[in-house]
Amino acid sequence: MCSIMRYNRTNVNRKEEKKMSTWDLSVFYPNLEAWEEDLKKLSPMIDQLASFKGKLSDLSSFRAFYVAEEETTKLIYRLYGYIHLASDLNLKDTVKSAKNQQLMLMFSDLGQKTSFVSPELIQMGEEKVMSYVNSDDFLRTHKFEMEKLFLQQKHVLSTDQETILANFGATRNVPSQMYQALAIIDRQDEKITLSDNKEVTVTQSNYRAMLAETKEAEDRKLIFEAAFKRYKENRAAFANTYNLVLQQLAANYKSRNYESALDAALFRNNIPTSVYHNLKDVAYENTKHIKRYIALRKKHLKLETYHTYDRFMKLAKDDTKYSFETARKLFFEAIQGMEPEFIAHQKDALSEGFVDAYPADGKRTGAYSSGLYGFHPFILLNHDETLDAVFTLAHEAGHSAHTLFSNESQPMALADYTIFVAEIASTFNEHVLLDYLIKKSTTKEQKIDLLETALDGIMATFFRQTLFATYEYEANKLVEQGIPITYQSLSKIMIDLYKHYYDIDITQEDGKEYVWAYIPHLFYTPFYVYQYATSYSASLKIYDNVKKGVPHAMENYLGLLKSGGSDYPVNQAAKAGADLTNKETFMAVIERFKSLIDQLEKVLEE
Ligand SMILES: [Zn+2]
Repeated sequence: MCSIMRYNRTNVNRKEEKKMSTWDLSVFYPNLEAWEEDLKKLSPMIDQLASFKGKLSDLSSFRAFYVAEEETTKLIYRLYGYIHLASDLNLKDTVKSAKNQQLMLMFSDLGQKTSFVSPELIQMGEEKVMSYVNSDDFLRTHKFEMEKLFLQQKHVLSTDQETILANFGATRNVPSQMYQALAIIDRQDEKITLSDNKEVTVTQSNYRAMLAETKEAEDRKLIFEAAFKRYKENRAAFANTYNLVLQQLAANYKSRNYESALDAALFRNNIPTSVYHNLKDVAYENTKHIKRYIALRKKHLKLETYHTYDRFMKLAKDDTKYSFETARKLFFEAIQGMEPEFIAHQKDALSEGFVDAYPADGKRTGAYSSGLYGFHPFILLNHDETLDAVFTLAHEAGHSAHTLFSNESQPMALADYTIFVAEIASTFNEHVLLDYLIKKSTTKEQKIDLLETALDGIMATFFRQTLFATYEYEANKLVEQGIPITYQSLSKIMIDLYKHYYDIDITQEDGKEYVWAYIPHLFYTPFYVYQYATSYSASLKIYDNVKKGVPHAMENYLGLLKSGGSDYPVNQAAKAGADLTNKETFMAVIERFKSLIDQLEKVLEE
C-alpha cells in the first residue's frame, strides 16, 4: 500500500466510463451485512492463536500455529480489503469508518494476544526454530521471517516486557487519527474573492490546479494562503500531534535498544543507515542545480519574486485533456514492445472493476494501489484529465502489477514486498511513459511541457522528498537531544532547509513554514518519504540499463518484481542493477537533472 498525493479536480463526471472506472468490491463481500457476519469469526480465531502460548516448542503445535495464523490473516485481508476501500470511497460515511475502526481495534487485540510468539521463538533458540522451519515446504516459507527475527533478537524483549508494550498497541494509531481529524474531517473549505471579483472555493484537492492556472501573482498568494490557513491556525495542535509521533518513535527505539529512531526504522528491513545519509548528502550538496532550474523558470515565467507555490506554473502548456480511458491507452502504447509478461501484468492491473478513477464528494484524495494476498489489487485515483494524472495512472499500475507478480510467484509468507522496493515498480513505469511521450512529441510546446514534467518529477520525487526526509531526521534529533517540540522548533527546520535547497525565505509566505503539518506521510508513516527518492534513483538506474541494452537488465528487473518480500530490499535493488550503498547511484539522478535543464534551456532559448 502506498499513496502519492497529486492534485485533482472535483466533480468530473463521465457516465459512459462509469462501469469501466469504478470498483467492484463484491470480490470481498456482497454487502456490509455479509462483512459484519464474517467479522464474528475473527475473535475466536484470534483466541485460538492465543491458545498456542507456551506450546511452540512442540513441532506439531508449531506447525498448527502457522497454519492457523495463515487462515486468520486470510480472513483479515478479506475484512480489511472490503472495509478500508469502501470507507475510502466516502470518508464521510460514519458507519463504515466506525466499522473500519472496530477492525483496527481487533488488529491491536491480535497484536496483544500473539505478542508471546517472538520471545518464545527466541527462547527456543535459532537452531531449534531453524530445524522446525526446514522440516517441510509449508514451514520453509517462514524461513526468511525467522532469519530476520534472529537478526533482530537483541531488540526483542522478554515476554513480560513485550506484553506491556503490546498493551500500548491501541495508542499507536492515535496520532494518525488526530491528524485525520485535524487535516481532513474537521476541515472547512475556504472561500476567497479573486481580483476579478470571482468567488472561488479553495479545497485541498483543487488548489494546486488553481495555482497552476492563475496568472495574477496576488491571486496566487490568496489561493496559497487559503490552502495553508488551516495549518497556521492549528499549528499548536498539529505540533502536539507530531510530537506524539516523535515520542512514540523515541519510546520504541529506547525500549528496544536501538541507537536512534532512524536506526530502528531502517533496521527492520536491514537497510544500512548509509543509504539514508548518502541520499541526504547527495541532495544537500547538489542544490545549485535546483537554483539554476528556478532561475530559468523565474526568467521565462517573467516573475518578479519566485514563491514556493509558483512551482505549479507551467512554462508551456499542452492543453490536451486525457480521459481515464485515453490515459490507459497511452500507457499501454508506452509499454508496447517490452517483455510480454510485463505488458500482461500492467494490463491486468488496470482491468475493469479494479480502478476507481474519478474524484467524488467525500472520497479520499490522492491516489494509491492497495494489494492484499489472495486478492487482485485495487487502484484509487482522482483522475483530473491532466498529463500529470496520466503519470499517476502509470505509477499506480506499477504498484498493482508488482503485487500481481509477487502474489503469483511467492507463497503468502514471502509475498509482501517492502515500501522500499514498491516505489521502484511505480516510478519505473513513469520513466517508460515519459520517454515515450518525449519521443512522440512534435511541437516545441509539447517538448517544453514534457521536459518540465521530467524536471518537476525529479524536483518533487528526489529533492522535495529528500528535504522532508532530512526534516524527519532533524526533528527526531531534537527529541534525542531533549529539545522541546513546538511549532517554532519544527518550523525552524523547514525554514533552514527551504533556504538551503531553494534559496527561498518561506517566512515571507504566510503559512508555508507549517509545511511540516501539510505532509500526511510524516504523521501516518514516519521515515517513509525517503524511499520515494531512493526508489526513484534505483528505478532510473534500472531503466537506464534496460534502455542501454545491458544484458539481462529486463530479466533482472522482472526478478525483482517477482521476488516480493523474499529478500532484503537493498539486495533486491542491487540484484536488479542498482546499488544504493554507493553514492554513484544517486549521482545518476543529479546527472540526469543537469542534462534535462540543458535541454530545456536550449528549447526555451530557441
Ligand atoms: Zn507509489
